[in-house]
Amino acid sequence: MPDKHESRHLNCRVCGSRTNAFMSFGRMPIANGFLTAAETAKEYFFELVPAFCETCGMFQLVEQPQPDKMFHANYAFYSSTSRYMQIHFEKFARSVMEGILSGRPDPLVVELGSNDGIMLQHFHAREMRHLGVEPSVNVADVARGRGINTISAFFGENLAGEIEAAHGRADAVLAANVMCHIPDLASVASGVRRLLKADGVFMFEDPYLGDMIAKTSYDQIYDEHVFIFSATSVMNAFARHGLELIDVAPQQTHGGSMRYTLAPKESRAIAPAVGECLARERQQGLDRLETYVRFKQNCENSRAELMQLLNRFRSEGKRVVGYGATSKSTTVTNYCGITPAHVEFISDTTPIKQGKLSPGAHLPVRPYEEFVRAYPDYALLFAWNHGDEIREKEQCFVSGGGRWIVYVPDVKVVS
Ligand SMILES: [Zn+2]
Repeated sequence: MPDKHESRHLNCRVCGSRTNAFMSFGRMPIANGFLTAAETAKEYFFELVPAFCETCGMFQLVEQPQPDKMFHANYAFYSSTSRYMQIHFEKFARSVMEGILSGRPDPLVVELGSNDGIMLQHFHAREMRHLGVEPSVNVADVARGRGINTISAFFGENLAGEIEAAHGRADAVLAANVMCHIPDLASVASGVRRLLKADGVFMFEDPYLGDMIAKTSYDQIYDEHVFIFSATSVMNAFARHGLELIDVAPQQTHGGSMRYTLAPKESRAIAPAVGECLARERQQGLDRLETYVRFKQNCENSRAELMQLLNRFRSEGKRVVGYGATSKSTTVTNYCGITPAHVEFISDTTPIKQGKLSPGAHLPVRPYEEFVRAYPDYALLFAWNHGDEIREKEQCFVSGGGRWIVYVPDVKVVS
C-alpha cells in the first residue's frame, strides 16, 4: 500500500509496530451515510483497508474517516428499537447485578456509549447509582427523558477524572458495541483504569474476530469499526494500561460477539475460559498473517458467488429486494458491485432512511410496507445477524414462494 495519505495508520494503532495491510475492499462511502439523490454528487469516499498487526494481534483499519464525516446530525441509531437487543441487554444488566455488584453497598455503574439507555434502564429501575456517557446528544436526550443519568461527552482520562470527582470511583464500567469504534483506545483504557475501584471490573462486548474469520462475515468491516477484537488482541492492548483479561464469554449478538471482562492487574483470579479462548484462537490461526491472506481469498470467492447468483436472477427477470438497510450492507454492496439493476430496492423500517439512497451503491431504500405489498422473488438478507428473528416473522413471504439469498457463512438460496 502506498503511503500517500497522512491519515493512514500503517503502524499499529495500539503497539506502533508495522502492520500488514493484506487486502483492500476498495473505494467505500460512509457505511451509515444514507443520502438523497441531490447529495450524491458530493458523497465522501475513502479506501477501506484492514490490516493485521503480527506483534500484538490487533485487526484494524488503516484509514478511518474523520468523526465529523461519520457522525453527522442525521446520525441516530437507537438501540432500543430491536426487541432482541432489549432482551440481550436485560440479561447483560442482570448478570452484572447478580455478579460483580452483588452485596456491594451503593455501587456505581458507568456505561460508555450508553445510547438511549437500553442497558442502564435496568440499573435505574432498581435505583442503583448509574451514569451513562453518550456523545450523541439527541440519543442521550432520549435516555435522559427516561430518567437515566447521562452526560454527552467523549470518554477519556480527563472525563474519567471529572466523573471520579463528582461520583467517586466505579464498581463496574460497561460498554457494548462501542470500544471497537474508538481509534484512541489508549486514552479510553487509561480512563477506565483511573475510574475503576481497585476491585472493580470493566466489561465490554464487540463483534468477535474469530466469528468474522470463520464465517467470512467481512461486512463487519466498515468505517465505524476501527478494530475487530480477539481475546489475544484485547489482552495485549489493555495490559499496557494495567488491566488484565480475567474472563471471556461468547455472545450471539451481531453475528458473533465476545464479552471481555478486565480488572486491575492481579486483583482477581483469571477464569479458565481465558486460557481456553486464547488456545482456540491460536488453533484458528488468528495470530498468523496467513489466516488473513486466506480470509481475503474467501472474501473474493464470496463476492464472485454472490454476483454470479444476482446476475443470473437479473438475466432471468427475477425481482430481488434487499432486506434491511444496515451499515454492514454498505461494505457488501460496494465491494461486490451491486447496482439497482440487481436489487430493486432495500426494504427498511427506519423512517429516516426511507426515500433515500444507500451509500455508494445508491440502491433506493423504501418502507417495509412495499416489500409486503408485492413480495419479490428473492430477498437479499442484509440483516443476516437477525436472520432467525426475521425468517420467523416473514413466513408469508416464503409460503408465497419467496426465497432468501444469504451470504454468511456461505452464499446460498434458502426458504
Ligand atoms: Zn500492534
